[in-house]
Amino acid sequence: MQRYKCHIKKNDKVKVVTGKDSGKIGKVLKVDRKKDRILIENINTVKRHTRPNAQNRQGGIIESEAPVHSSNVMLLCNKCIKPVRIKMMRLDDGKKVRVCRKCNEQIDA
Ligand SMILES: [Zn+2]
Repeated sequence: MQRYKCHIKKNDKVKVVTGKDSGKIGKVLKVDRKKDRILIENINTVKRHTRPNAQNRQGGIIESEAPVHSSNVMLLCNKCIKPVRIKMMRLDDGKKVRVCRKCNEQIDA
């Protein structure tokens, strides 16, 4: 049995548990399964210096999100409203769903 496995998907709500954004909650924008990295709305923002271009005539500093490693975030249960451990459950029709270990609520709608 694996101790940790990434079950996070796009549009999940996650809580950051380490780093400068520790404690913040955000929506998952993108998951890179190969690199095990997750892009989260308004989390781990970095300032980038840009040269003037067609979209941004003045150039300057823009803020954008940088991906964080999946081990730095925890999935939020909508019912518990806090980070929870999840388990996988197989439904009668063979579909796998993620279930909160605390309240047994399905994370996947
Ligand atoms: Zn729960």
